[in-house]
Amino acid sequence: MSGLTFKGGIHTFEGKDLTKDKKIIDLLPSSPELVYPLSQHIGAPAKPVVSVGDRVLRGQKIAEANGFVSANVYSSVSGTVKAIEDRRNVQGMMTKAIVITNDDFYEEAPPIPVRPIAEMTKEEVVAVIKEAGIIGMGGAGFPTHVKLSPKDPAKIHYVIANCAECEPYLTSDYRRMIEEPEKLVAGLKIILCLFEHAKGILAVEDNKPDCIRILKDLCLDEPRISVKVLKTKYPQGSERQLIYASTGRAINSSMLPADAGCIVNNVDTIVAIYHAVIEGRPLMERIVTVTGDAVRYPQNYRVYTGTSYSDLIEAAGGFKSPPEKIISGGPMMGFAMFDTNVPVTKSSSAVTAFLKDPVSSAPESACINCGRCVDSCPSRLLPSKLADIAEHYDEEKFTALNGLECVECGCCSYICPAKRHLTQEIKMMRQLVLSKRKKK
Ligand code: SF4
Ligand code: SF4
Repeated sequence: MSGLTFKGGIHTFEGKDLTKDKKIIDLLPSSPELVYPLSQHIGAPAKPVVSVGDRVLRGQKIAEANGFVSANVYSSVSGTVKAIEDRRNVQGMMTKAIVITNDDFYEEAPPIPVRPIAEMTKEEVVAVIKEAGIIGMGGAGFPTHVKLSPKDPAKIHYVIANCAECEPYLTSDYRRMIEEPEKLVAGLKIILCLFEHAKGILAVEDNKPDCIRILKDLCLDEPRISVKVLKTKYPQGSERQLIYASTGRAINSSMLPADAGCIVNNVDTIVAIYHAVIEGRPLMERIVTVTGDAVRYPQNYRVYTGTSYSDLIEAAGGFKSPPEKIISGGPMMGFAMFDTNVPVTKSSSAVTAFLKDPVSSAPESACINCGRCVDSCPSRLLPSKLADIAEHYDEEKFTALNGLECVECGCCSYICPAKRHLTQEIKMMRQLVLSKRKKK
């Protein structure tokens, strides 16, 4: 099967065999304490609506969106609010969080009131998605109700389900597509209700032929939805590359997908939309892959938000021996963790642990001008030059060479025979420039 694609990119070691055939297991938290950061999304942190000592139920709102670009937070267990205090998040930073002691009863709060979808207005559908606290669960964390409220809905021509899951080792979306494909298709149909001129695309990499078959069968009688087969290549699931490969449209760093007539959501987000709009269920759980050669029994779990990463690792049998590297997410786009006693949030997709850290063990050497980083860059940049410029903090040259178009995919670092830390340098400079612009 050969598929649609984009220029550049790399073929990584997939590592998916460790968990791709592992059925999703429901995991109850084993630690008595669950931690819910108020900021699990892009935008303003949510505002607590509970106080220390309050009893809360599973599915009860504990923090409210603080503005349009923000998201509600729900308790995934019943119990008592123990504290509202600073706790470490997965990036290693201290951030305000609500701590709940689990009473192990899992007593449920009433669902969000919903009506049959055919009787709901578009505004009501978006309001339910907002109320459910849904954000982009592929890692971006952008509140979904904002994404589904573009300036001109009539100009949205494609609603794309990002089923690529190109990040090595991750299989949570794959398992969802195998085990609950109906919910994915139903969720996509809900989004299509909001954009009458749009077609739905299920964009799947060609290394998942079973998913392609299942989804094609399910969509036989869905004239507005098609399955598009993409070439297996990293970063095929990156928003810009996905849009280009599946529609031929291009966006840059100053554009939103909606500017090119596209709305993109990942698999878990679309299933969360289904749960919210059809069942009135807020976002309080997600699928997480626990994997890597250091993990004794790699697995996919359905996890309650607020659960400690340590609980996940323990459930997977712990480590065979102490890992040199633990990553939240996958090896390309994830970030290294130094403490696993941090909570799973709405955007946690995986924990990947390696016995050896190939990055730290390979010394960096001088550039040999081989050009491989240029060939691999999906944004068609000059990574070696940009990294040199970043080392000298030359903002003007960095911008002139389109450094802001970097999607921080890691391809250049991965491919570089001199093991230069290209992505890190460019990413740092890019974030510096962007934060300066934001302040202005
Ligand atoms: S420069 Fe940026 S976009 Fe290009 S390969 Fe490197 S990390 Fe990816
Ligand atoms: S891949 Fe590495 S060695 Fe080759 S040109 Fe780029 S920075 Fe230099």
